[in-house]
Amino acid sequence: MVVLRQGDYVWMDSSTGVPIGAEVRVSQSGQIQLVDDQGKEHKVKKQDSSLKHMHASSINGVDDMIRLGDLNEAGLLRNLLIRHREGTIYTYTGSILVAVNPYHLLPIYTPEQVQLYTNRRLGELPPHVFAIADSCFFNMRRSRQDQCCIISGESGAGKTESTKLMLQFLAAVSGQQSWIEQQVLEANPILEAFGNAKTIRNDNSSRFGKYIDIQFSKGGAIEGARIEQYLLEKSRVCRQAQEERNYHIFYYMLMGMQAEQKKMLCLSNAVKYNYLNMGKCTSCEGRDDVKEYAHFCSAMKILTFTKNDSWEIHKLLAAILHLGNIDFEATISNNLEGCDIITSTHFKMAAQLLEVDIKTLETSLTQRSFMTNRESVSKPLSSDQASDGRDAFVKAIYGRLFVWIVEKINSTIFKPPSEESNDTRNSIGLLDIFGFENFKQNSFEQLCINFANEQLQQFFVKHVFKMEQEEYANENIVWKHIDYIDNQGTLDVLASKPLNILSLIDEESHFPKGTDTTLLQKMHNCHEKSRVYIPPKNSHDKTFGIEHFAGPVYYDSKGFLEKNRDALSSDLIMLVETSTNKLLKQIFHSDLINVKSNANPNMITSKNSLHQMTDTKKRVPTLCGQFRQSLDSLMKTLTACQPYFIRCIKPNDFKKPMLFDRELCLRQLRYLGMMETIRIRKAGYPIRHTFQQFLDRYRVLLNSVICDPKKESAKACSESICKNVLSDGDDWKIGKTKVFLKDFHDTMLELKRDKAL
Ligand code: ADP
Ligand code: MG
Repeated sequence: MVVLRQGDYVWMDSSTGVPIGAEVRVSQSGQIQLVDDQGKEHKVKKQDSSLKHMHASSINGVDDMIRLGDLNEAGLLRNLLIRHREGTIYTYTGSILVAVNPYHLLPIYTPEQVQLYTNRRLGELPPHVFAIADSCFFNMRRSRQDQCCIISGESGAGKTESTKLMLQFLAAVSGQQSWIEQQVLEANPILEAFGNAKTIRNDNSSRFGKYIDIQFSKGGAIEGARIEQYLLEKSRVCRQAQEERNYHIFYYMLMGMQAEQKKMLCLSNAVKYNYLNMGKCTSCEGRDDVKEYAHFCSAMKILTFTKNDSWEIHKLLAAILHLGNIDFEATISNNLEGCDIITSTHFKMAAQLLEVDIKTLETSLTQRSFMTNRESVSKPLSSDQASDGRDAFVKAIYGRLFVWIVEKINSTIFKPPSEESNDTRNSIGLLDIFGFENFKQNSFEQLCINFANEQLQQFFVKHVFKMEQEEYANENIVWKHIDYIDNQGTLDVLASKPLNILSLIDEESHFPKGTDTTLLQKMHNCHEKSRVYIPPKNSHDKTFGIEHFAGPVYYDSKGFLEKNRDALSSDLIMLVETSTNKLLKQIFHSDLINVKSNANPNMITSKNSLHQMTDTKKRVPTLCGQFRQSLDSLMKTLTACQPYFIRCIKPNDFKKPMLFDRELCLRQLRYLGMMETIRIRKAGYPIRHTFQQFLDRYRVLLNSVICDPKKESAKACSESICKNVLSDGDDWKIGKTKVFLKDFHDTMLELKRDKAL
């Protein structure tokens, strides 16, 4: 039974299912009121069995959540909430940094702050992203081991900003401003111009994942970097949701280009283009497209893109916009539905900029050729099919252009290590990748993204678990097995077991008669009994679910195979073949090799080779296949590094400062596996004190008759206190340098200490 006094803090039930903190107010008449953390008032009786007193550590919050007495969801949530309210956005959970997006500029990223955090141990100063960067840098140089930092969180949580801050810090501490360092920093505005867009969640949302590996000399100076990109969202080039935009670069160039250049490309304003005006949003509050364009252009120069490179890129972007404005008119001839392109300036400009014959462009867009008995025949396309084909072409151009730009940047900033520097170089990798996604409608893209997150979660669990074990081993602690939730089972069903879900999707994509329905059937047959796979509700339902570590997600199987094949008609590849546009041909280089080397081109998949209709030929990589390959290589890289983790949290859906939505944050804490971490910690000995720290705090509990601190070591005194206060059989441990305790030991010690004082 809890007795409530004025000024007490308690936990009370809340609608989220997770208790909320509240302060007790007692009026003069003795009426008791609780004011919860969201400012809501509640009347209560003097004694209320549903309430629980708050641990002292939860009242004002702590820098490191491992030190929370109330080490549960409620404790975590409240700790972040009260810190966020004070503008303290960073909090540790051990060495894991939790960052809550402040949504306004804080004065904590100045050169003075960089200086302050340089060469300090983690935990010496208040939590900060700079402290993590410094720790990476320090550890890299001390241990000569590569470091990596995995920055996760959902869209708008602050991953990209955190990555930039890490980079800013590393550039600053690595020494004098060098040209290569400048180039590494300026790669970012180019990547963001092509890969970021305004979405409803984030005005500068990255629509691709990236891993930046920064290489340092033995002396700690930046020597180069390498950027790996993952899964650019190509569909955005052709389609945007309400209030969303296409990629920044289009708006930048239409706002920022000189009139004369615009005229040469026959360009006008963003509202005029189907590909840009769909979301009814062509400008973005708080973003100055003119200024950004100027920055982009200077970055291009710094990254050694020539004037000509730049012009050729603009030409392709303009061609994309003109292609989007082509209109198709339905026709019927010989009872066959077909279509014509309505002649327009846009159509002419598209042909001119792509440097292809206008007639060939028309036939490539409106007809599709097939091989029958060694003979090529062509079939007219309906206007819908033609515009789908046009969109596929545009996505292919943009996607390949993006890959080419990243490669070009790498060719400038990546310096292969010279013979002698080979073994002295070390790197710090920063992973800024899409977080776990669970929307109302989830498709193939979400499955890929969530698969990546399962892998990262597995990496996280393994690592946190391993570190924990290492500490016990170092301290000679004998302890029982830590029971933690492992998501390996989900990964097995998704990608490792024979006939796993991803391989079934690939299998079915290669199979000419494969459809979304046959795919679903196969999944069902293979995984019906698995607890990871959730079957459709009935035979008409095309939705299946996966039990992810962050909860179940339901995927609409419609379009899965189409998206995975990522096919482009060979007619369009052949069109590129006839072009005199060097850049266009270059970005389609591997497609062209493949189309030529194959006698029966039917469909071309995104990267290389053909979409094979028969099993006799070599299999082609599908989108999923390519993604898995690049993820595998990422996991290998990460495994070779000492990892750090930054968990970014989005406090509200409105991009607003000072607003903390408990429910939203709770959901993210769960997605991010924070509870998992806590659980792992709980099963172990979450409370650790060095002997001296322990003795300093609990000296009052030491019976100096049994153990005299003047004669005995801090270790002996600590052990004596434990024996004295905690019962002997309890699960506390004395290591080599530290006392290891369970939560309740901490409570017990604190209570006894309070009494003794
Ligand atoms: P993500 O990459 O996780 O989708 P971003 O890093 O792009 O999210 O952050 C979204 C927006 O939130 C940024 O454009 C910026 O306005 C704001 N933001 C994020 N982190 C910070 C920060 N540390 N300080 C101030 N504003 C921030
Ligand atoms: Mg981002």
